[in-house]
Amino acid sequence: MRTQRQVVDYSLQKRAVLRDVRSGRIGTLEVCDASPYLRNAATYHGEPIDERCPICRRENLTLVHYVYGDELKQSAGQARKLAELPVMAMTLREFQVFVVEVCRACAWNHLVERFVLGRDGLAAEETLHSGAMVSSGGGGSRRTGDSAHNGEGRR
Ligand SMILES: [Zn+2]
Repeated sequence: MRTQRQVVDYSLQKRAVLRDVRSGRIGTLEVCDASPYLRNAATYHGEPIDERCPICRRENLTLVHYVYGDELKQSAGQARKLAELPVMAMTLREFQVFVVEVCRACAWNHLVERFVLGRDGLAAEETLHSGAMVSSGGGGSRRTGDSAHNGEGRR
């Protein structure tokens, strides 16, 4: 996203948690504690990604984008669809986005990253033409048709 800035990555923390889970220092119950609210957000506003849950490996993860900022008023703290973010980034000056990964099967959840979006990031750039640049289609997730090769018994 064009106005993305101040990106903080939490993959190190996540790796540390996963290490502790594998070594048994942390129980899976402690890390698979997504609230019903978060699981709902994953269902209705989440962005499915092509990555298996590191805990149960049964389902792919879903990313939930939470938005925070004074300009959001009462909608601060709500989950938004990824497609809504570029639009908001062109309307608002500045807001925070927290990205949380969630497994809908086992309720594993962890903060992935956070960053700032908003028009202020355009700084010197010309913003006179209020062009809505919402051209980002949904990623390139291609589905491979299941190639069921019926093995013909050879004799
Ligand atoms: Zn899981």
